[in-house]
This record gives sequence, C-alpha cells and structure tokens, in this order.
Amino acid sequence: MSYRDIQAECCEANLLLPRYGLVDLTFGNVSVLDRAAGVFGIKPSGVDYAKLTPADIVLVDLDGQQVGGTLRPSSDTPTHLRLFQAFPDIRAVVHTHSRNATAFAQAGCGIPCLGTTHADYFYGEVPVTRPLTPPEIATAYEWETGNVIIERFRSLDPARISAVLVHGHGPFAWGPSGAKAVENAFALELIAEMTLKAQQLNPAALPISRELLDKHFLRKHGPDASYGQKENGS
Ligand SMILES: [Zn+2]
Repeated sequence: MSYRDIQAECCEANLLLPRYGLVDLTFGNVSVLDRAAGVFGIKPSGVDYAKLTPADIVLVDLDGQQVGGTLRPSSDTPTHLRLFQAFPDIRAVVHTHSRNATAFAQAGCGIPCLGTTHADYFYGEVPVTRPLTPPEIATAYEWETGNVIIERFRSLDPARISAVLVHGHGPFAWGPSGAKAVENAFALELIAEMTLKAQQLNPAALPISRELLDKHFLRKHGPDASYGQKENGS
C-alpha cells in the first residue's frame, strides 16, 4: 500500500465524521496505519472538514516522526501513536467529542451493556479510564492519554471492546480500517445516547444477561460468526 492510499483512506474516514454527526467545530480526528510500512496518516491540526483533501493528510511513522505532508498533525497524534504501538491488530483510530459518549466520559462512567444494539458492537461495558494525574497533564499530555487507555485495557481485549472513554475528555474508538473504526465510533455514540435515556427512564436498569450478550456479540465477531451474508451462501 502506498502512502497515497493511506492518505486517501484517512481523508475519506475523516470526512465520515461530520457526515455521521460526530463532530462539532473541529473536534475529532481519524488516523489510518500502514503497519507494514510503519507509517500512519492523520488529520492535520485545525483544518476545516469542508476543505480537507487527501494531500492534507499528515504522515507520521511509528517513532512519532513526521515523514510526509506539509501541515502540522493533529495535537492528538501521540495518543493515536501510543494505541498503534500497544494494540498490534488495529489499523485505524478515531477520536471525537461526540456528545453522548463525551457526557459519560465527563461523568466518569463507563457505558454498561443494557441492550443488544450495544452487544452487536461491544462485548460488555465500554470502560472509562482513570483521570490523568497533574504530572501526566503537565508533561506529555497526549502521550499519557494513550497510556491511561492502555492501562485500562490491561485485562480487556481491544478486539472485543473497540472503544474507550477518557475520563473528563471523550471517546476513542478503533478498528481494522478507517471506515470500520468510524462505524465503531458512531455505534458508540448511539449506544451512549440509548443508555443515557434508558437510565433516565429507569436508574436501576441492569445490564443484559451473559447469554444475550454472547448471542449478539459472538454471532458477529470471532471464529464462529454467522451474521450477514457469507461467500458460500450459508
Ligand atoms: Zn479531544
């Protein structure tokens, strides 16, 4: 895959954010990695989505050095880099301040799995990180944001829970392609809104059963997935 392909996929994925209603002002960015080349594309800092073109996408290597593009990369670049380093199977990272997911992040609450829409995408609660400490905020803030995510995932599988809420900040989501990572970020926003409303209607609402969670998640993900159209027609 050439860098031009990465820039095209990354630009297209970034343009999905306003289309899906995940962006207010310029909050939000998508990165897409070519793992074989060790290079990822990311949205430039502060550029209006209406004016974004593939050539604007900044290229950064897995040591954090800019290797292409003339604009400055998003200030969140070190967080994306840290996630690419720590989660070897992901190819794209999305960060937004989508309103309902951010509300959970600001409340310091994970999103419990109250229904099958959630279970179709995330295998249980979408977790929230701990708050960053004052020294973490004062030094390498964006890098440390990546580190608190990784710390939260020590006993979680990023392939099964493809999103997180950074405490007091907002959501990050990831996936195997730019489009899929944005879809996960969109699903996260939907289930955040549904959960918030369900909890308003019934503050004692409980997570769905393990059986229902397994039924919905495992038929769409993993070795025994059966959902959708298979090439053999089954
Ligand atoms: Zn942010």
